[in-house]
Amino acid sequence: MERFGRRDLVVRGGRLAGAAAALALGFASEARAANALDQLDAALRGPLLRPGRAGYAHARKPWNARFDDVLPRAVAQPLDTADVQAIVRWAAAHDVRLGIRSGGHSYAGLSSTTGLLVDLSRLTSVALGPGGRAVVGAGATLGHVYSKLWAAGHRTIPAGSCPTVGVAGLTLGGGHGFLARQLGLACDSLRAVRIVTADGHAHDVSATSRPGLFWALRGAGAGSFGIVTRLTFATRKVGTVTTFAFRWPWAAAADAIAAWQAFMATAPDELSSSLALRVPSTPGGTPTVVANGMFLGSKPAALAALTGLANGDPRPSATSVVKRTYAQATSYFAGGESARRRIAGSSRVARSPLGPKGRDAVVDLVEQRDADPRLRGGGVVLFAFGGAVGRVPRKATAYVHRDARFSLELVGLWTSPSPAIETAHFAWIRQARHALAPFASGEALQNYADRGIVGWKRAYYAENLERLVSVKHAVDPHDRFRHAQSIPTAL
Ligand SMILES: Cc1cc2nc3c(=O)[nH]c(=O)nc-3n(C[C@H](O)[C@H](O)[C@H](O)COP(=O)(O)OP(=O)(O)OC[C@H]3O[C@@H](n4cnc5c(N)ncnc54)[C@H](O)[C@@H]3O)c2cc1C
Repeated sequence: MERFGRRDLVVRGGRLAGAAAALALGFASEARAANALDQLDAALRGPLLRPGRAGYAHARKPWNARFDDVLPRAVAQPLDTADVQAIVRWAAAHDVRLGIRSGGHSYAGLSSTTGLLVDLSRLTSVALGPGGRAVVGAGATLGHVYSKLWAAGHRTIPAGSCPTVGVAGLTLGGGHGFLARQLGLACDSLRAVRIVTADGHAHDVSATSRPGLFWALRGAGAGSFGIVTRLTFATRKVGTVTTFAFRWPWAAAADAIAAWQAFMATAPDELSSSLALRVPSTPGGTPTVVANGMFLGSKPAALAALTGLANGDPRPSATSVVKRTYAQATSYFAGGESARRRIAGSSRVARSPLGPKGRDAVVDLVEQRDADPRLRGGGVVLFAFGGAVGRVPRKATAYVHRDARFSLELVGLWTSPSPAIETAHFAWIRQARHALAPFASGEALQNYADRGIVGWKRAYYAENLERLVSVKHAVDPHDRFRHAQSIPTAL
């Protein structure tokens, strides 16, 4: 239940005023810091988990285990928007940095902090309302949203495949998946957002209420403008779909890239696809090249739409085309694997097809990865855009990469805590970005956050950066919401 704006907020504010006075002197002692946390604790409905106490060790860890070492001062788990308002006001009064976390999947640890971690994982409600609008708590994961909307009336939103990714983090950075060419990005289905800004006020923003902030939240909203507590989406009816997986022998990988990109250039919007070139996750074997995707329609119609790829040159060595309910398709793409891992990644955005040199560069990179025994799993994934994503003008939302033909996602996934292995993954990602630079635009996907990108602001936001900075300046002039790649208050 949302309670912001009610009388108890005034009571919470009163309790916090005492803490503010004490903390105006700064955290002169541990005892004073503990006292301040006590007062925050008393003001919250949800738990405040502190080091050494039950729940902290688990709650502080993001899904991306690379950032397990970043220890927050405490973890607050708000139960409603009023809790979030109390946290924001407390943090401002005490000058404490906030980290905002929904699904914890940030590639670059942008939801990790040594300040107070605001973990929204208890805000998981998903309610389908009139007109097919879904009101979704900011802590819900994609898997939860998909299953709830399916159960509520065979409806969905277009978003990503991994079920443990947070719907908030993904949508605020754009959010693409296998419905994107038909229905657009997740942020394109957003109709309203509830956000707590730096002054502690909660706002329901939409195309008609604070439209500038709503514009910014659709592509650049991750951790820069405030804490989003709920998202309202337009949903679409879905029923039966057809999934496909085509595999080629590794020796034909460069030609498979050529065939796939030519095929996707004229594919119908109902058909979405990625082409994954990966090394095996265990030693031995050869890299794989597989086109995965989904067709929004019957199996006979999918087979007809896929003819060009199935009978093309080179011919796939194995094909699988399967009719499924949409719910089964989301489980299929989830792949049954959601355990915490270490993950690092980056991306390039291509506006034109890769020529022979570009295709060879991709294949070489995957083969170099395969030759290094420290680098199991991961590789390069081409994700086809176009369709509904490309029909939105570049400046219409903060998400600017509307004219991308496809992205090149560079991914390293591992479990070992060995620094040598981490270093090897980073080195490969750097090398891959460099090697692919001549064949792509200078842009990169903000959802594949990479602290190593020089000039990340332009790479993520291009010509939308100036407007984003002006929205930031208006909404959060003192830069209360910041992380390593948040929108600055000035350029
Ligand atoms: C395994 C895996 C699969 C992925 N698949 C896809 C995919 O198919 N499509 C795609 O587009 N992306 C994909 N991504 C990228 C993913 O969308 C981003 O990493 C996204 O930021 C993760 O969101 P999160 O809530 O899980 O992460 P978090 O680490 O919790 O947050 C990520 C960022 O969003 C901010 N944030 C989170 N919640 C809020 C909030 N409530 N209010 C304000 N700011 C907030 C955080 O501060 C941080 O900056 C994938 C990532 C992984 C690791």
